[in-house]
Amino acid sequence: MIKLIDLTKTYKGLRAVDRINLEVKDGIIFGFLGPNGAGKTTTIKMMAGVLAPTEGRIIINGMDLASEPVAVKRCVGFIPDRPFVYEKLTGLEFLYFIAGLYSLDHAPSLREKISWLLELFELTHWQEELIGSYSHGMKQRLVMCAALLHQPRVLIVDEPMVGLDPKGARLVKDLFRDLASEGITIFMSTHSMEVAEEVCDEIAIIQAGKIIARGTGEGLRRQAGVDGSLEHIFLKLTEGKRIAHERPLSSN
Ligand code: ATP
Repeated sequence: MIKLIDLTKTYKGLRAVDRINLEVKDGIIFGFLGPNGAGKTTTIKMMAGVLAPTEGRIIINGMDLASEPVAVKRCVGFIPDRPFVYEKLTGLEFLYFIAGLYSLDHAPSLREKISWLLELFELTHWQEELIGSYSHGMKQRLVMCAALLHQPRVLIVDEPMVGLDPKGARLVKDLFRDLASEGITIFMSTHSMEVAEEVCDEIAIIQAGKIIARGTGEGLRRQAGVDGSLEHIFLKLTEGKRIAHERPLSSN
């Protein structure tokens, strides 16, 4: 379903993502973990088609993102780490605007779908309010509604739980499990070991742009040669390899 082949991104000589090769099966929740500056967001932005790779290929649903960008984007939902929304629109207007981008604005079931999503993410009451008045968590939930509008087969999510309160986080975890059970593939980065343990079927750990371990929680335990929590395993696998190339963000 998702295949990354020798995926590489270089920023002015810095290899932020360094020849990543990954295959993610259908209908699983794949967790992408790594320390700060490891290359998670860069990988995710390339998969979502918002950043061009320096080298390598991204195959989603059997299509190459470089040669069929629109077709790939039709089957992908992207939830970035920071909610990008238009503050001067109401929540409802924003969702209709996104529906228009996917040519769904005349779909007969659109109103019903929007109502269902607003209800699910507990935004019904706020749908006529300007997004500028929303809290961070509400904006994040609205972006999730927008990403699900076109019924994507693949969801690419950067740090889904950031800014959500415990109830919102619970909702998202349960929703992701439901979506995966319907065959939707979810690729998500997270810093939260607890989230990764609880919801991810498989995990890859990236450090300094390279995948250093991959497997189920149990598989990672074996690779690390330690028992215990995922946090313990993560620290063991990444210890002593502090990111040599980490540096502050600058433009590419
Ligand atoms: P975090 O967990 O802190 O969000 P991350 O794993 O998502 O980190 P990235 O944001 O992908 O890491 O950054 C990977 C590396 O690339 C870092 O060293 C970062 O400083 C660098 N980097 C990211 N974006 C740019 C950019 N636009 N220009 C130059 N360097 C960049």
